[in-house]
Amino acid sequence: MIWIDDRLVPESEASVSYLDRGYYFGDGIYEVFRVYGGQLYEAEAHYDRLERSAGAIGLRLPYTRKELGGILRSLLDSEQVQDGSVYMQITRGVAPRAHDFPAGVRPVLLAYCTASARPLAMMRTGVSVITRPDIRWLRCDLKTLNLLGSVLAKQEAKEQGADDVIWHRDGTVTECSASNLMIVKDGAVLTHPANHLILHGVTRAVVLRLTREQGIAAEERAFSLETLAQAEEAFLTGTTMEIVPIVRIDGMPVGGGVPGPVTRRLQQAFEATLPS
Ligand SMILES: *Cc1c(COP(=O)(O)O)cnc(C)c1O
Repeated sequence: MIWIDDRLVPESEASVSYLDRGYYFGDGIYEVFRVYGGQLYEAEAHYDRLERSAGAIGLRLPYTRKELGGILRSLLDSEQVQDGSVYMQITRGVAPRAHDFPAGVRPVLLAYCTASARPLAMMRTGVSVITRPDIRWLRCDLKTLNLLGSVLAKQEAKEQGADDVIWHRDGTVTECSASNLMIVKDGAVLTHPANHLILHGVTRAVVLRLTREQGIAAEERAFSLETLAQAEEAFLTGTTMEIVPIVRIDGMPVGGGVPGPVTRRLQQAFEATLPS
């Protein structure tokens, strides 16, 4: 079942207007929620970010947080999903094509859930990545539908036989195409500060909290491509990926070329936060 136009409909009946601004301008925002054991994980943090993204682009959410919770509940119940994710996007609505905001238009919310297992094999063996200039705009803190930069990055990684891209701006490392990046340097976890140059990941925040609980030194500080190349460990964080080790960067092994001890310890600590 799909939530669209204020109701739950079978997939075969779900459609969107050719005048939807999401289609012309990428004029909208989205969230991906994780579901474990039929329960939403860190739901409040995702609602917070959704509200922040909406506010920053002047989009009035068509539902209260409580109503959004009801919509998500009805989706999970209709599909009986135990482990998976919910995709939710809100566009500015349907109106004749013009760049400025249309008057009196109701935003369009689309949401559906998909069953998916945790990426356990990838979490165990790790991924390889390439580094590229960050070609996105300067509001990377907003989870908007303008994802062309990420699309091109992911495709280039694939064509190079890699799994993802690590972005940098003039040599300062930011994040990956759809996840945040952390490295371990001199035993301490480093990650770019949560400013306008990266998406403020919910998983990133959980992992930073876990470093404090585990007594692992961690710093939100920008670092260079040179520091990245000298990292003992590297890993990415994201709602569906959780914590995935990065074992090769631009063809060179990271540390010993296998997931490192700090990464594995954080993976275990993360696992302990999941509903059993
Ligand atoms: C969604 C996203 C992340 C990860 O955020 P989570 O809340 O942990 O899923 C990181 N970077 C980008 C560019 C993203 O779109």
